[in-house]
Amino acid sequence: MEAARSKPKLDMEKIVSLCKRRGFVFQSSEIYGGLASVWDYGPLGVEMKRNIRDAWWRANIRQRDDMVGIEAGILMHPQVWVASGHVATFADPLVDCKVCRQRFRADQIPGDRCPNCGGELTAARMFNLMFKTFMGPVEEDASVVYLRPETAQGMFVNFLNVLNSTRKKLPFGIGQVGRSFRNEITPGNFIFRTREFEQMEIEYFVKPGTDEPLHERWIEDRFNWYLDLGMKSDNLRLRPHSVDELAHYAKACTDIEYLFPMGWSELEGIANRADYDLQQHSKHSGKDLTYFDEESSTHFFPYVIEPAGGVDRMLLAFLVDAYDEEPDKEGIRVVLRLHPSLAPVKVAVLPLSRKDPLIAVAKDILGNLRKTWSVQYDDAQSIGKRYRRQDEIGTPLCVTVDFETLNDNAVTIRDRDTMGQARIAISDLVPALSQRLGVC
Ligand code: ATP
Repeated sequence: MEAARSKPKLDMEKIVSLCKRRGFVFQSSEIYGGLASVWDYGPLGVEMKRNIRDAWWRANIRQRDDMVGIEAGILMHPQVWVASGHVATFADPLVDCKVCRQRFRADQIPGDRCPNCGGELTAARMFNLMFKTFMGPVEEDASVVYLRPETAQGMFVNFLNVLNSTRKKLPFGIGQVGRSFRNEITPGNFIFRTREFEQMEIEYFVKPGTDEPLHERWIEDRFNWYLDLGMKSDNLRLRPHSVDELAHYAKACTDIEYLFPMGWSELEGIANRADYDLQQHSKHSGKDLTYFDEESSTHFFPYVIEPAGGVDRMLLAFLVDAYDEEPDKEGIRVVLRLHPSLAPVKVAVLPLSRKDPLIAVAKDILGNLRKTWSVQYDDAQSIGKRYRRQDEIGTPLCVTVDFETLNDNAVTIRDRDTMGQARIAISDLVPALSQRLGVC
């Protein structure tokens, strides 16, 4: 059973090609030959990314009493990265092949020879993954700043600000969405591992002693979030870290893994970081970052549960999960069975002909639906081709305006998954679509 499940189900090339063809993801600076491991999001990709962020923000921030959001700067005081341990230890062991010159992460290759040509490898040297730049006009050591390699530290350094401005009591958490940068040695697998990416992270502060059940709770909540957005449970699994995999300060960590085309890989990590982060920042900043617990009249450093995921990896996982092909009379129908709240386009308005009276009605419907949803208008080629184009980008519903519309003031709603059709009065269209789409 396990063997069958771990077999990659879909060639990544199909996803990469769909993404380029339909405008989800393009290679960065493509006309100059591309920039390795940076990707640009096209018109559909940017909508879908926004939908993922919104779904995450809704479930993890807005719908919870115990969560608030922030947005910290990408550039932070360089001492932040000394305190967090990134300056000293955010490094991977790098080896080069002396024969073919290819570069590898020593911990990702089996044995001590080059996996490409079998050649001899150099000794491993540690390579810090943080991008450095300079603040101000002088390029000297004193003005070095880093592009953040994670969003987490922005939440730790704002712990007191949030506590004082919101008067939250433990347990409570801070969430943030934003860009991070890592000079990865072996990026790849399309948008799975890139050098510039976006994270959605939560730092959830708890009373020591309550951390274990709350950690379990977050693992469950985060796992269910993917299921609620339609991800297939067969393609998701939890992987608790073994003790020797854990960072020295971490008490426990469980990854949510997804069955990507290249195999099971991390989608999100949920760690119990104990009180390491607040302790470190207290020590390095000289500020008291303890929490005063009124019940016990004591000061202590809260423990931290950290659910940390990446938007780009999620987008890839949702696309892979939704991708489907089925035979039809014209060959193969490609369908992205995306959850409506993630689909970049919710509704397509399709007039059957380009003749005036139909266009006027269709444009009127388009203007009305646009107030609520992201809508596309398409009047080119046959209706069958237009349905296929919408299926391929995951549009859940099409609204077809036909000649009968001029007589009965009704349109046809066509469903992406079932291809079923229903006739609906134009005056009932918005509630009918709302009911089918849910919260979007
Ligand atoms: P990995 O083991 O894959 O390098 P990690 O354990 O270093 O990931 P974290 O530091 O826990 O990752 O970051 C949290 C999340 O951020 C990851 O689960 C992933 O979704 C995302 N992420 C991390 N690095 C990258 C990257 N280079 N490209 C895209 N997403 C990333």
